[in-house]
Amino acid sequence: MTPRMAAAITDAGSRSRRSSKHNHEARMAAIHAEAQAIVATGKCPRCGNALHRNSSMTGWWQCSCYPSPAMRTVGYVDMERYPKCDFQCFTA
Ligand SMILES: [Zn+2]
Repeated sequence: MTPRMAAAITDAGSRSRRSSKHNHEARMAAIHAEAQAIVATGKCPRCGNALHRNSSMTGWWQCSCYPSPAMRTVGYVDMERYPKCDFQCFTA
């Protein structure tokens, strides 16, 4: 990265930081509230299968049909039989 590029990035950051911080927090709160409502139902809003918590990160929930085999709940390992659904959300 050239010094000029670095300066341009820093400029853009300082210009938007003050006004966007509050917006960002409000947005995250809305996203988390929505996710909590979804998790409370226990079901994926896309495909209706169960949601399960991914314990590798706080507040991370995924559809039990998540395409990655390692993330799939036991019982949904049959990739052909069950739909692939990549729904995930964060409650924290
Ligand atoms: Zn799903």
